[in-house]
Amino acid sequence: METNCIFCKIANGEIPAATIYEDEEFRAILDLGPASKGHALILPKQHAANLFELPDETAGKAMILAKKLAGQLKDGLQADGINLVQNNGEAAGQTVFHFHMHLIPRYSGDTVNVTWKPGTLTEQDKKDIMKIFK
Ligand code: 5GP
Ligand code: ZN
Repeated sequence: METNCIFCKIANGEIPAATIYEDEEFRAILDLGPASKGHALILPKQHAANLFELPDETAGKAMILAKKLAGQLKDGLQADGINLVQNNGEAAGQTVFHFHMHLIPRYSGDTVNVTWKPGTLTEQDKKDIMKIFK
């Protein structure tokens, strides 16, 4: 556990939170500033600042858990869709530096904003990017 990490304290039960799921490795809680009704967060109990620090096994289990909880939220709240959002780094909007996955139920016509304005894939960008993966 990392000292001064609020999500370590919540995940490990030191600070109370509305828990919708718990097992040995994860706690899922309701977000205190929800984007929509049912906005929840999946927190691993073991500290990792972000996706890059997260062990592969935990990453896999987090996605399986996201699938399960997303289904329960969607059915239970009659949501029309669910966004999974996972921010890494300040530039990406991360404000709490303990890995977490957002589950955001979506309702037709809601005003939640997780969209972007489409740009253009230029030939130069494509070349720059493709060469990383060669
Ligand atoms: P991020 O911007 O890092 O991806 O998301 C952090 C999220 O954590 C925000 O949606 C924020 O509302 C939520 N949050 C921050 N502090 C607390 C807290 O103490 N308890 C709960 N339940 N949620 C929190
Ligand atoms: Zn932590």
